[in-house]
Amino acid sequence: MKQIPMVDLVSQYQKIKPEVDAAIFEILSNASFINGPAVKQFQQSLEKYLNIKHVIPCANGTDALQVAMMALDLKPGDEVITTSFTFIATAEVIALLKLTPVLVDVDKDTFNIDPEAIEKAITPKTKAIVPVHLFGQCADMDAIMEIAKKHNLYVIEDNAQAIGADHTSADGTIRKAGTIGHIGCTSFFPSKNLGCYGDGGAIFTNDDELAKRLRVIVNHGMEVRYYHDSVGVNSRLDSIQAAVLNIKLKHLDEYAKARRFAANYYNRAFEKSDKLKTPVTASFTNHVFHQYTLVTRNVDRQALMDHLQSKGIASAIYYPVPLHLQKAYIDPRYNQGDFPVTEDLSQSVISLPIHTEFDEESLKYVTDAVLEFVGKNS
Ligand SMILES: *Cc1c(COP(=O)(O)O)cnc(C)c1O
Repeated sequence: MKQIPMVDLVSQYQKIKPEVDAAIFEILSNASFINGPAVKQFQQSLEKYLNIKHVIPCANGTDALQVAMMALDLKPGDEVITTSFTFIATAEVIALLKLTPVLVDVDKDTFNIDPEAIEKAITPKTKAIVPVHLFGQCADMDAIMEIAKKHNLYVIEDNAQAIGADHTSADGTIRKAGTIGHIGCTSFFPSKNLGCYGDGGAIFTNDDELAKRLRVIVNHGMEVRYYHDSVGVNSRLDSIQAAVLNIKLKHLDEYAKARRFAANYYNRAFEKSDKLKTPVTASFTNHVFHQYTLVTRNVDRQALMDHLQSKGIASAIYYPVPLHLQKAYIDPRYNQGDFPVTEDLSQSVISLPIHTEFDEESLKYVTDAVLEFVGKNS
């Protein structure tokens, strides 16, 4: 039976194997494991790709978010506004730093944080907003930056899922996701759009002062060796991962194109179905389809997943439980029903396999299996 995984990193590797293997072996043979030339080279290549002044590589995307918040000198009890519909990391670091996560609902079409809801959640204690560019398209950064300016707030973009996506502002300025707020954060977890072969992450900023602080924090709060002026962490991108990323960065735009090809194929197959709502891309962004996520209507979602599984097709629910209903984050401020869009999405979304290695035959195999279950139309 055909097997269709959520991502196909094996076939992707086969295409770049000689180059990747040589780059990894070079690091083994010169033992430049930590902070070697590959890391510096990747930092500079990514700065150029994103058109940003500073990239600070770090150990993973969660660290990137934590270090970003540490650099802003937020105090316990300060409020940080983020979305209720995201991966836990975003809220986790807010909680770890003893800041107060303030959750707001998302837009029902784009699944991204709703700027109107942000504005309503602002209090005198609010210090920062963390929009997440969920599933591969940008949150409404014009609106978010305007709110931030008006209320003097920092904006940290969680760009773990949308690296390479473009955001077009009302004045026509096109910028890469993650380079619009004060700080951008990303993850190079293997399945992300720009993934390494282990853990990795990076922080971006155009602000020289912030960049300096971020570099000190990722390195034990150390500016001069063994002199520690602030409390930091140990968060490094290792050279082997940087070497892999140097190669994969060159393919990032072509990878996005392959993901869009798969998404367009799915869209065409499902657009007539009244049981499936295909992804909606906001006018101010393109979409790099980290996930291809359908909203189901009147479908037994578990039965659909089981049906796909019986044909060797993976599927996943991102995310089955909204942040405010996660056990570790139960908070008297929030109740079931507080974020109706998020709660509805968590019950109704399904993500299909999407990656850089699809051919039409495999895409047809997936769409046939889905349509066989939900019916061709109406
Ligand atoms: C993957 C992800 C992270 C965390 O990245 P890690 O490298 O796994 O720590 C944070 N936020 C979002 C939205 C993510 O998808």
